[in-house]
Amino acid sequence: MKMLQEKITHEGIVLSEEVLKVDSFLNHQVDPQLMQAIGHEFAERFGQEGITKILTIESSGIAPSVMAGLTLGVPVIFARKRASLTLNQNLLSAEVKSFTKKETNTISVSGDFLTAGDTLLIIDDFLANGQAALGLLDIAEKAGAKVAGIGIVIEKGFQPGGQLLRNRGVRVESLAIVESLNGGHVTFRKEAQP
Ligand code: 5GP
Repeated sequence: MKMLQEKITHEGIVLSEEVLKVDSFLNHQVDPQLMQAIGHEFAERFGQEGITKILTIESSGIAPSVMAGLTLGVPVIFARKRASLTLNQNLLSAEVKSFTKKETNTISVSGDFLTAGDTLLIIDDFLANGQAALGLLDIAEKAGAKVAGIGIVIEKGFQPGGQLLRNRGVRVESLAIVESLNGGHVTFRKEAQP
């Protein structure tokens, strides 16, 4: 997706050969126009799949998911990373090892909002080792819901998550695939370019 790649090229900060910072438009400050375009793109790619709900994880998955949900006309549910006073019953949970924080979180979704009748589109901001996506797949499975695919804003193609998920037969659509962050530069994988 050209608009996204340009934004990453101009505003992305390469923190190391493994970590890309995009706080100016996705992870801290949010660019609504870009999110709208991302939402349209996900809706375009998964529009024929009979999606009934989008499943994401707080906090950076929420903005692109809401825009995709708006275009597809479906609700968005985000998994919580912390226990909550109000979210403590009928929980569907999974363990997720965080890539950026190097800690394990139990992520949870209320079973009130996910049912065996749902066809889900899972969305997240980054795909690295695939732990967040696997956790969301686990929750979907516990609900008995069908997963039509996974939409990722930025996949780091040099890390194993994409391969892991695709090898499981899951459809993964990434709007930008970063091939390398070597030398402080972002290089994109060719197939992801428009
Ligand atoms: P995974 O679970 O695939 O190993 O990592 C994905 C999660 O870690 C995403 O939800 C995202 O929050 C975070 N993450 C992984 N790599 C990066 C990165 O390079 N930059 C940022 N900002 N977040 C990342």
